[in-house]
Amino acid sequence: MRLLDAILNANSRATDGKAPLVTPDQVADSLPLVALSCIDARLNRFIPEALGVLESHFIWLRNAGNIITGPMSSTMRSLALACAVKGGKEILIIGHTDCLVRKTSTLDLLGKFAALGVERSRMPENLQEYFGLFASERQNVLKAVEHVRASPLIGPRVPVHGVLMDIETGKLELLVNGYQTLEAATSAAPKTAAPAQTILPSIPLAASKDNQSIGEMQFPQFKIGDAMQQVKAMVNEMSPQATSATPKPASTPAKPAGPPPVPADAIPNLKRLVDLSRQYRVIGGDGKQYGPVPASVLLRWIGDGRADAETPVQVDGTGTWVKLAQLGDALRQHSHGARRK
Ligand SMILES: [Zn+2]
Repeated sequence: MRLLDAILNANSRATDGKAPLVTPDQVADSLPLVALSCIDARLNRFIPEALGVLESHFIWLRNAGNIITGPMSSTMRSLALACAVKGGKEILIIGHTDCLVRKTSTLDLLGKFAALGVERSRMPENLQEYFGLFASERQNVLKAVEHVRASPLIGPRVPVHGVLMDIETGKLELLVNGYQTLEAATSAAPKTAAPAQTILPSIPLAASKDNQSIGEMQFPQFKIGDAMQQVKAMVNEMSPQATSATPKPASTPAKPAGPPPVPADAIPNLKRLVDLSRQYRVIGGDGKQYGPVPASVLLRWIGDGRADAETPVQVDGTGTWVKLAQLGDALRQHSHGARRK
């Protein structure tokens, strides 16, 4: 039995607030579990007991609304280190019903902050975006799972699950089965020109059995404060060799120390330029041409920061190279030209 199934089983049999424990022997390779939940104190009586997971196997991250704002966000940083440094094997995003973050409008928020003496003028301009206010608990979990899955900081073999917990009963509703997502990604691989390699290699975990299959590299010793730089450097360092047969379309790995080349808020804009019905060729940071690949693969490269505004892209069949940022113009011109024929 796999960890998620064991958790759901334990949860559905939970009565009197005492869930049968997930037998660690059965799922030893999947523990510890890394979970992100909301800060709502009503969850305290259920977690982790209602999941059937021992506290010693449970790495619990919390933030208001269990929100992940992007693949490189602050919460992502903690999730990544929970896996890389603390050995977390699977990730569970736990949303919950009746979330106050969902029920709070920007206007409510302003009123509440004003009551605390917080001046509007000193707050971020876009409160909705800054606080990640959302309209649906389910959608919020799906989005968080998507961001974690797309994050270059999370190894491609770490399952990322999503559930919604009933705040009254502790009962879980399954929203995303991370094993299925992984299997779908694997089985889809041969059909696309650039399959699993488009995912960055996983970061070796300290003293884990799985390490040996990933590679002989040992995870170096470092202070927590240095960890992020180290993880980033390692991701950059590993991608060329571990993905030698691999498209490396963007220049990201060549710029180790700096911030990610694509500001997180630019990614949705770039993604919007991609016409889902087309195929694309891309010139990578190594100067090689990749593709044609389906739009979905290009979107993933953009999401991973491997293709940015400057990456040369060609809509397959047009014969014209443009910068990714100008893709919209290229598509418009082409369809205009095609109509005139
Ligand atoms: Zn909440």
